[in-house]
Amino acid sequence: MKIVHLIAGIALSATPSLAEETTQLDAHEHGVGQLNIAFDENKVAMELHAPGADIVGFEYGAKSDVDLAAIDAALQTLSDPLGLFLLPEAASCIVITAHAKLESEDSDHDDHDEEGHDDHDEEGHDDHDEAPGHTEFHAEYLLECANLTEMSAITFSYFEIFPNALELEVQVISDKGATAFEIERDVAKLDLRGIF
Ligand SMILES: [Zn+2]
Repeated sequence: MKIVHLIAGIALSATPSLAEETTQLDAHEHGVGQLNIAFDENKVAMELHAPGADIVGFEYGAKSDVDLAAIDAALQTLSDPLGLFLLPEAASCIVITAHAKLESEDSDHDDHDEEGHDDHDEEGHDDHDEAPGHTEFHAEYLLECANLTEMSAITFSYFEIFPNALELEVQVISDKGATAFEIERDVAKLDLRGIF
C-alpha cells in the first residue's frame, strides 16, 4: 500500500491547488470537475472531484428518501471507475481500490436552534434560509494495468452517466511530467499517445 501514498504524493505535489480545494467547496464551478491521473509503472492512480450539482443535480443537505437514494446510487456508480472511464481493453486494467464519498462544506454546523421562533409572519420571512452550501463528490481509484503502453486513450462515459457534468479538468502525470487537458462532453475522449 506504500505505492498508493507515493502516487498520491506525486499527484498532490504537482497540483498544490487541489489541497485547498477540498476546504473551499464554494470555489467550485458547477459543471466542471477535476480528474487527476498519475501513471507509475503498471499502476494508475486517479482522483476525481465533482460538484454535487454535476453528479446528483443538487447540493442541499439531502433529507428525502429520493435524494438520499440518489446519493447512494451516485456513490455506487462512482465506485466503478472502469464504468466511468473506458480504458483500452489491451491495457488490461483491473481495479485495486475504489473509494467514493460526498463532502459537504456545512456538515459541521448543521444544527440551527429553532426554539422560540414560533411566530411566522406571513410567508417568506424565514430568517434561517442561509446561503446554500456546496457539496462535492470525491473519489479515489487505484488501478493496475498489465500493458500500460496500450493505454492510448480514455473515453469518458462519465458524461453520459452524469448529464449535468459539462467538463473535466484533467491532469495527467507520468514520467514525462504533468500535462493538463480539458475534456468536454462534446468530445469526451482523452488521447494519451505521447504521454508515455
Ligand atoms: Zn456548488
